[in-house]
Amino acid sequence: MEKLNNLNIRAKLTLIMGFTATVALFLAISAMVANEYLSQRRAATTQLSSLAEVIGWNSTAALAFGDPKAANETLSALKSRPGIVGAYVYSKTGKVFGEYCTDYPPMSPVDSNLITALVVGKSQFDEEMLYKSGLTEWLPETVEKILPNVSKSLNLTSNHEIARYDQQGRLHLLRLITLDGEPAGVIHLIDDLERLGATLRTYYAIAATIVLISLAFVLFLSSKLQKVFSAPLFSIMEAMKSVSKAKDYSTRVKKTSNDEFGILVDQFNDMLSEIHNRDIQLADYREHLEQQVVLRTTELSKKNEELEVALRRVLEAKEAAEAGSKAKSEFLATMSHEIRTPMNGVLGMTELLLGTELNDRQRRFSKTIQKSGDALLTIINDILDFSKIEAGKLELEIHHFDLRELLEETVELLAERAHAKGLELSAALPVNLQMKVRGDSNRLRQVLVNLLGNAIKFTHQGEVVLRITVETQTRDNLELRIEVTDTGIGISNDNLTRIFDAFSQADGSTTRKYGGTGLGLAISSQLVKLMGDTLTVESVLDQGSTFSFNLSLDRQANDTDGAVHTQKSLHNLRVLIIDDNATNREILHNQTHSWGMRGRLAYSGEMALQMLHDAAAQNEAYEIVLLDWHMPGMDGIEVARHICSDPHIPTPQVVMLSSAAFDEEAAKAANVGIHRYLTKPVRQSVLHDCLATLTMASTKSEKVFSTTQTSIKNATHSSVRILLAEDNLVNQEVAIAMLGNNPNYSIDVAQNGYQSVEAFFENDYELILMDCQMPEMDGFEAARKIREHEQLQGNNRHIPIIALTANIQKGVQDKCRAAGMDDYLSKPFSQVQLQQKLNRWLTQKQYRSRPEATAMNTEFKSSSILEQEALDKIRMLQRPNMPSILAKIIHLYLETSPDLMKAVLDATERNDSASLHEAAHSLKSSSANLGAIGLANLCKELEEKGKQNTFDTAPHLIKCIETEYKSAFSALSGELDKIANA
Ligand code: ADP
Repeated sequence: MEKLNNLNIRAKLTLIMGFTATVALFLAISAMVANEYLSQRRAATTQLSSLAEVIGWNSTAALAFGDPKAANETLSALKSRPGIVGAYVYSKTGKVFGEYCTDYPPMSPVDSNLITALVVGKSQFDEEMLYKSGLTEWLPETVEKILPNVSKSLNLTSNHEIARYDQQGRLHLLRLITLDGEPAGVIHLIDDLERLGATLRTYYAIAATIVLISLAFVLFLSSKLQKVFSAPLFSIMEAMKSVSKAKDYSTRVKKTSNDEFGILVDQFNDMLSEIHNRDIQLADYREHLEQQVVLRTTELSKKNEELEVALRRVLEAKEAAEAGSKAKSEFLATMSHEIRTPMNGVLGMTELLLGTELNDRQRRFSKTIQKSGDALLTIINDILDFSKIEAGKLELEIHHFDLRELLEETVELLAERAHAKGLELSAALPVNLQMKVRGDSNRLRQVLVNLLGNAIKFTHQGEVVLRITVETQTRDNLELRIEVTDTGIGISNDNLTRIFDAFSQADGSTTRKYGGTGLGLAISSQLVKLMGDTLTVESVLDQGSTFSFNLSLDRQANDTDGAVHTQKSLHNLRVLIIDDNATNREILHNQTHSWGMRGRLAYSGEMALQMLHDAAAQNEAYEIVLLDWHMPGMDGIEVARHICSDPHIPTPQVVMLSSAAFDEEAAKAANVGIHRYLTKPVRQSVLHDCLATLTMASTKSEKVFSTTQTSIKNATHSSVRILLAEDNLVNQEVAIAMLGNNPNYSIDVAQNGYQSVEAFFENDYELILMDCQMPEMDGFEAARKIREHEQLQGNNRHIPIIALTANIQKGVQDKCRAAGMDDYLSKPFSQVQLQQKLNRWLTQKQYRSRPEATAMNTEFKSSSILEQEALDKIRMLQRPNMPSILAKIIHLYLETSPDLMKAVLDATERNDSASLHEAAHSLKSSSANLGAIGLANLCKELEEKGKQNTFDTAPHLIKCIETEYKSAFSALSGELDKIANA
């Protein structure tokens, strides 16, 4: 079957048609042959029957006369009959009467019983007889047929004959011979039907020939006819082949008929034309696409070229911009240097001039020069900062600082300005929160000074408040909200949006009235942006403004929450806060409350007196009164006087807070029972220590402090040799003049780096002031050379080198440090600033040369008896023509510290840890305030011991403290003398 499937259509069609024709022919010829065969047989039977009749009739006489010879002769006549191979004549009894035989093996005669049956007739021909006749063996198939209905079968031959074929295909015919209607015998003829076979063979030959001829004809026809089917298919196939080979879809198959093949051809052609059309379209598209690609490629390469040109230009522009930016920043550095250097001359000389004998007119002129110089310096600084912002060069410098210190300092710095205008300036800071952080303190101070300065400038009455609130705090970070609020002129909505733009002010008239460059807020907002937030403002015209921003600062590693130590003696003390200003009341209340004091508030003198009376009546008199000086109606002095003179009011410790001139207040205070006097805004630590000292020294009688004025010039260092390396003659002059105020300083001047190095080699200096930018060899190089020399000498000597530079660019400080310089002073500097630096470094040097007298641990070894910086800080608070604050504080210390020292010794003796802790803490903080850092550190150690209740090493520590205390005490006494002698 598979083979058949694999044949081609042509072969299949031929095969199908050939097979069909063969089958048809075969069937037809078979029918014909069968028919012929049957006709021949019938004809043979008829002929044999006729012959048997003739022979039978001829034999009747022989039978009648019992003449077998005659019968045989009759039979022998059959010789002429081809095909008769045997003939018998039986008598009525069934015996053979005559016979004729050819050389054919003689046939045995039939059983006599059968003959008898034939003779007797059908009625006696029963089954049994048949069996007896042995006919069943002779003609078994006949018998089988006869058996069911023998008589009927016998009836078929009305002539009383039976014709049957034997197994060899011979025809036997038995016929009854009658004589005169009576059975006389039976004739039996046997025909071998050889003629019939020959005829049939001829027939078969003819049929085969016909079949062959027909087949050949059929094949011929089928080969012709199959083309009707296969031709269209082949033509489609051919077309397909050629299409697939040549890809020529324009080829078409010729349609030759309208039948299914015609439809197939049509559809095939349709398909081809469809493909052809698609091909054409595709070709069109391709062509179009190619054109587009060519077009786009051209465009692209054009664009590419343009891009390359643009890129080249951008690169050139970038290089130019970078060069420009570099040039700009270099220009800024130079400008900064160039402008600040003459400013140093102007301001320094003016300061010196003011220190000389001048008549009033000259002093006024000089002060005007100084003020103008300061203002000019501020403007220059603003412009430089702004240029730096413009050049993208402004970066923050991150370092450790105490935020509380910075905020309090800044507010103090501006306090005078505010108080001069009669404004309240207060700082509402979170109480009891350590704020040791990392950030750019200078830039933060700049922003705060600008905001507070503006607030003071644009406020005529009321208050200016710096308020800090903690948004979030973690161990590592502080998120603060910083607000500067004033009750000033406010800003109109129109102007709110543009005040942060450079050079813009609320309006023209403001410029005239208030002055200013309009740069401050632009710089501040940029700085706040650098710090990570946005400076915003809310303002109502004529009511005031609030500038605010958020500040996120990393905390220093050792900074801890709430670590501010509170004096136990303050706990539960009743304090009355009397102030007309609500913000101040709130601040003071928060502070005292956080120290465990029980505070009540009074907004006027009258109210306060009433409260004092009430409290006394209830036996709950106030131990402390915090009293504001300037209040409407009854002022602070008046209130104090009432308290002092009223016998019904138990005299509390009165602390006067004021911004007014110190000497006047102090004098008044002496008469009205004011125990302490603090200048507003009061630092939290100052207030705390003041209250703590008051409570501890409450038994002592109060004194009014010396009003002798102190001067910063008084920090003396005998025979101190200083090298000043400075090329600029004016600056030389300024520095020499500033240093020359102190007779203990001897100053050598070097004109450049080389000279300074040589001078260092040749002389023994205590300190070098090194200008950074000098001809031939600059200050950095000179410092490096000096350090190298020191190292080569290997004698552990380290001379302090303080860099002087007018270049305020970022990184200069690092550059100085890298060159081996110890400190940095930015020009123009004031005499105070210069002296501070000298004090710091000369003191440290002194200490380094000191033998290690005390048994302090290494931490303490690096500190001095008195750190001048701490004293300087107090000196900075000094107002002109006021009693010396430093003297006052030292005096207080000298007065109270012996008791504290005694308390420390007693507590140690008694092993009283609580008292020890308290006394040591008190001594520590008051000593630290006056710069006795060594003593403060020892006290801190002792305080810890008291806290932990460990007294084992205390005696040794106490010894050290005693020694250090004595040194500090005498050093401070010396300071007091110096102030008195100044
Ligand atoms: P300057 O103060 O030098 O003019 P600023 O940039 O600091 O420059 O301020 C810009 C302008 O914003 C000021 O001129 C003023 O009109 C307005 N301004 C700033 N702060 C305040 C304030 N606290 N109250 C009212 N107006 C203010």
